[in-house]
Amino acid sequence: MGVRTYDEYYGRLKKMKRNLYIGGSKCDRMDERLAAQMRVIRETYDRANDPAWDGLATATSHLTGEKINRFTHIHQSVDDLLKKQLMTRLICHRVGGCIMRCMGIDSMNALSVVTYEMDQALGTDTGQNFLKYLRYWQDNDITANCAQTDVKGDRLKRPHEQADPDLYLRIIESRPDGIVVRGAKIDNTTAPVSDEIIAIPTRFMSDKDNDYAVAFALPADWDGVKMLVRPAYNHKRKYLPAPIAEIGDAESYTIFDDVFVPRDRVFLDGKGDPRQTPYAGFLALLFAHYHRHSYTGCKPATSEVLASAASLAAEYNGIEKEAHAREKISHIVGVAELVFAAGQVSAYRAEKSSSGTYIPDEILTNAGRRLAGEEIYNEYKIVADLAGGLCATMPFEEEFFSEETGKLANKYMMRNPKISAEDQHKCFRGLENLIVSELAGVTQVAGLHGGGSPQMETITMMSRYDLESLKSIAKYLFGIEKELPKYERPTVTPRKMLERFQKLYGAPKK
Ligand SMILES: Cc1cc2nc3c(=O)[nH]c(=O)nc-3n(C[C@H](O)[C@H](O)[C@H](O)COP(=O)(O)OP(=O)(O)OC[C@H]3O[C@@H](n4cnc5c(N)ncnc54)[C@H](O)[C@@H]3O)c2cc1C
Repeated sequence: MGVRTYDEYYGRLKKMKRNLYIGGSKCDRMDERLAAQMRVIRETYDRANDPAWDGLATATSHLTGEKINRFTHIHQSVDDLLKKQLMTRLICHRVGGCIMRCMGIDSMNALSVVTYEMDQALGTDTGQNFLKYLRYWQDNDITANCAQTDVKGDRLKRPHEQADPDLYLRIIESRPDGIVVRGAKIDNTTAPVSDEIIAIPTRFMSDKDNDYAVAFALPADWDGVKMLVRPAYNHKRKYLPAPIAEIGDAESYTIFDDVFVPRDRVFLDGKGDPRQTPYAGFLALLFAHYHRHSYTGCKPATSEVLASAASLAAEYNGIEKEAHAREKISHIVGVAELVFAAGQVSAYRAEKSSSGTYIPDEILTNAGRRLAGEEIYNEYKIVADLAGGLCATMPFEEEFFSEETGKLANKYMMRNPKISAEDQHKCFRGLENLIVSELAGVTQVAGLHGGGSPQMETITMMSRYDLESLKSIAKYLFGIEKELPKYERPTVTPRKMLERFQKLYGAPKK
């Protein structure tokens, strides 16, 4: 029973306690302002139940051998990573951008590796708790948010150095039956319509930051969890319904107001067992790594949606054969393909960790995600350039259908005589949703910062890339060295990455 329906998911949300706050009122998950976000999540259930998507939107659980939603799968092979990436790209096409369910699967994959490694090195039993939780997750086709981003206070100070000790989520009490946590995680996409919240650290933690080395999973409506929600959605359409007008998103500012987490849902507890603290950094990094790999699936789709809108606008404006229009569209398509290719090759170069979970290549994943982040605003600029200004200044829909102004509004909508006024109206109304709306603004910032800002990818890449070995090429060419050493990719493979962590934090020492 690992593939559930949207109605089952919806039914679960309906029963959840009211712990959402939107615009001054306390709400439940059935609030109208969350419907657009749920419409996006709906795709992930509908596709898994669609026979045409069998094997792509579904996978086989390595725990039970049962068919499950791929959004709950732990990658067992290169093929699994490739399929996750392709599924993400194709489902994103259907919702015009982010599919918003990747945080769950990305954090679960990272936890599968880190809890296993920690158990091996320290003799803990969090891996067993994790597997039990995973079973529940897969059986119920759980939608989850990964709450990683702390509010962080002064960016140059470590958690224990902050003026207020609560600026990073921390454990205030660790006891045999569980932990009590205090703090907040922010920017949490989908959290308001998630079954579960998976909280993990946002950075490496030093031995002075034991209290901040914390990871756990909780139902999203658990006692003490408060979500201050910021939904973004489009104006309701009256006359011209379109899928793009129905989608939206919702982020939460998730406050943990002295929340008790039962022990079997705790995956990292540096306060109770300081030996676990170094695994905070390992988990933070590995989640970011899986999440950046997911970006190599979703971001090409976002780019393709933009390229597709740019092409349609160019056609309707009669400029599609103009050289500058073709050059600009080809730029977006080129970026989309390169980002996807980076993720694909990264999957081909993936290696199996001791836990059995496959880990994609680091340099390629980060290079792909960074290119995507750097290009996002440029892509929006190209669409706005080719569309012209009307997408930002269109009169409301009603004016095109009113008795008094409708005829005139449609007459002056005409650009390409081969296309009906209504289709041209639909195109520009869609462009308004895609690049001028509140949601467009969120998508742009998400494209830049989601999964880690480009600077974070730069830091990761430069800390893994062996510049000395790279320089040997120039040394040979410039006559400084006589021999060119045998070529070895100057980068860290996933296996070497794990070995580095094992060296740093724990060769088995039970
Ligand atoms: C739409 C959207 C959805 C998101 N969804 C999620 C989610 O579901 N879950 C989640 O956990 N997170 C989520 N995020 C958060 C995202 O991962 C962060 O925005 C990202 O990691 C950047 O962190 P920040 O926002 O704190 O920016 P900062 O880290 O504050 O970055 C701001 C600037 O400061 C610089 N900077 C930061 N620290 C230093 C330093 N020590 N030294 C020098 N310069 C520094 C950065 O390079 C950058 O230029 C989401 C973000 C967005 C926009």
